[in-house]
Amino acid sequence: MLNNNRLRLAMQKSGRLSKDSKKLLSLCGVNIDFKKQQLISFSENMPIDIVRVRDDDIPGLIMDKVVDLGIVGENVLEEELLRRKIECKESLYNILQRLDFGICRLSLAIPNSKQYSGFSSLKNMRIATSYPYLLQQYFDIRKLQFRFFILNGSVEVAPSAGLSDAICDLVSTGATLEANGLKEVEVIYSSQACLVAQPGYIMHAKKILINKLINRIQGVMKARESKYIMLHAPSSKLQEVISLLHGAEHPTISRLAGETDKVAMHMVSSETVFWETMEKLKALGVSAILVLPIEKMME
Ligand code: ATP
Ligand code: ZN
Repeated sequence: MLNNNRLRLAMQKSGRLSKDSKKLLSLCGVNIDFKKQQLISFSENMPIDIVRVRDDDIPGLIMDKVVDLGIVGENVLEEELLRRKIECKESLYNILQRLDFGICRLSLAIPNSKQYSGFSSLKNMRIATSYPYLLQQYFDIRKLQFRFFILNGSVEVAPSAGLSDAICDLVSTGATLEANGLKEVEVIYSSQACLVAQPGYIMHAKKILINKLINRIQGVMKARESKYIMLHAPSSKLQEVISLLHGAEHPTISRLAGETDKVAMHMVSSETVFWETMEKLKALGVSAILVLPIEKMME
C-alpha cells in the first residue's frame, strides 16, 4: 500500500519522455533506483514515489487524483481533457512548469503528390490519427467536414497503404514524414513535456516539497542554458569583450601572475557561446578561452 504522506509522481515508463524525465529528477537531487521493472520506485533520499506508466495514463492519474504530479506531453494532456469533457468527467489539472524537452507539434500531413491550396483542400478527406479529439476540435472550429479513423501506431504509413488521404500525427524534425513521402500542411497543436499537478487540496507538507522541486527544476533549466566562461583578455579591450558575451555583464576580473597587459575574466553567460563569438574574441586578442557547462544554479 502506498504511503499517503509521500509525494507521488507519474512518469512515462519507456518512450521518448522517459530518459529526460529520469535525468531531470536526478539533476534535482531525487535519487531513485530505476533498475527494477516495477510500477512504483521509491526515492531513498526524499519522500517521493515514482509511478511509471504509459504516457497516455498520466493525465487520467492526475485528473482522478491518484498521483500528485506527472511529467507528460501537453498533447496527451489536452487530448485527455477534450475526451473527458465530452464524457462529462472530471478534467482539471494545473501545469506547474514547462520543461523544454519532448518538443513536438501535432500536424496534418498529406502525400507529396497531392496539391495543397489551403485548409479547405482537406474537405472530406479521410485522416488517420492517434489524436481524434484534438483533430476534431481543429476541424470543428474551422467548420470543415472530414472523416477520421484511429491508429495507435504506424500512422505515417496509412496514406501509402491506401488507408487514408492524410494523417494527423506528432512531428519533431519532420524526418519521418519525409521518409514516408508526406508533407506537413497544418500545425494543429504545439507541445512539450510539462510538470503537471492534480487540482484541489494538497497537504501542506507536500506543497512545500512541490515548491522545492519546482525551484530545483527551474535551477536545472536555467543552468542548462547558461555557461561559465573563463578567458584572458587584454586590459584595454574589456568593454569589447563584455559586449560580445550576452548575459555576462558583471565578470570577475583578476590579475594574472607575471602579466601586465592581460587580466583573467570569469563570468556566467545566460546564453550559449558559439564558435563565431569565440573567433571574434580571439580577434580582439583574447586567449585561453574556456566555456564550461553549469550543472545547477540558485540565485
Ligand atoms: P507509451 O508506450 O508510453 O504510450 P507512446 O508510444 O505513446 O508511448 P512516445 O512515442 O514515447 O509515446 O512519445 C511520448 C511523447 O513524446 C509524445 O506524446 C509527445 O509529447 C513527445 N514527442 C516528442 N517528439 C515526438 C515525436 N517526434 N513523435 C512522437 N512524440 C513525440
Ligand atoms: Zn502513449
